[in-house]
Amino acid sequence: ALHNQLIDLKGAIRVFARVRPLGPGEAQAAGSAAPAVRVDAAVGAVEVAFGRVGGIAKDGSLSTSKRLQRFTFDASFGGAAPQAAVYAEVAPVVTSVLDAYNVCIFAYGQTGSGKTHTMEGPEGDRGVAFLTLADLFRIAAARRVEADFEISVYNEHLYDLLGEPCADGGRPRLEVHLGPGGAAVPGLTEAPAGSAEEAWALLCRGAAARACAETKANARSSRSHCLLRVAVSSRSRITGDVAKARLWLVDLAGSERLSRSEAVGERLAEAQAINRSLSALGDCIHALATRAAHVPFRATKLTSVLADSLSGDSKTVMLVAASPAAADAAETACSLAFAARVR
Ligand code: ADP
Ligand code: MG
Repeated sequence: ALHNQLIDLKGAIRVFARVRPLGPGEAQAAGSAAPAVRVDAAVGAVEVAFGRVGGIAKDGSLSTSKRLQRFTFDASFGGAAPQAAVYAEVAPVVTSVLDAYNVCIFAYGQTGSGKTHTMEGPEGDRGVAFLTLADLFRIAAARRVEADFEISVYNEHLYDLLGEPCADGGRPRLEVHLGPGGAAVPGLTEAPAGSAEEAWALLCRGAAARACAETKANARSSRSHCLLRVAVSSRSRITGDVAKARLWLVDLAGSERLSRSEAVGERLAEAQAINRSLSALGDCIHALATRAAHVPFRATKLTSVLADSLSGDSKTVMLVAASPAAADAAETACSLAFAARVR
């Protein structure tokens, strides 16, 4: 039994790193020829070299304050990895949804690291969320799948992305109630979707509303968490029993720390809310992975909403997106450290 439990434990949380290609104008190395970020796909590791080289130390020698950190994940992808390769690692949990497991798929990383590319992807090169929905409806052909609601969490406020816009163009605000039966979000719009195309259209509608609502709130779209819940009920052809499960597709807010110059007013409150919710999410996943007695779900709105889908027999996939640019190396190391810690 213990052996099985250990296997379960290992399978319950999977973490993958994806380092995007270098963007225009970005440099992959600073102060030395070696790239700042290196992917060792064979062993699922990512190495980050950061810090300054070439400073003059007190004794006159050339100092190297360069540090190398290595993080190992269930798999790691470099800039050349296609969407299908990333999805291939995620695919097993999509089958789990139809076996009545709750599943959460998160994209984590600093703004510009490739979270949205990995989840949504551009037309013609769709990402994990799209491929997940396509697969879910394909495998489930004979069962009932409903893509139902989408919410955004900004500054510890929940917004109903599929709700009717308010007079000011923003979206209705909601509350979450965490009871013994899980999280309830009264008033949240549930929109049925009978096909992958309909579910994808809902996701896109939510993403557009997220961008719009946040422009009204004077916030950048990368400063909120965006969650789509897909409720799946499948009826066994043998027993007739209906199994229900939830699939969450989550594009998290940018994990970057605030620079000193930005640490004022609204930006500061926003950054603090994001930091609090991301670290609470890390704490909860870590607590679940280590079977801790207490899981601090109530700490933030993000973790409250996800509480019942993270606990129990649920399966979690953390996709950590990272930039290969030398200028982002410290932030990349932070993101990878966060993701390495939750396992
Ligand atoms: P985030 O959502 O984390 O802020 P984006 O997904 O918007 O980041 O990615 C930032 C930029 O990098 C975009 O222009 C995107 O098209 C590009 N990009 C990200 N990941 C990849 C990738 N794997 N392949 C090609 N381009 C990518
Ligand atoms: Mg994004």
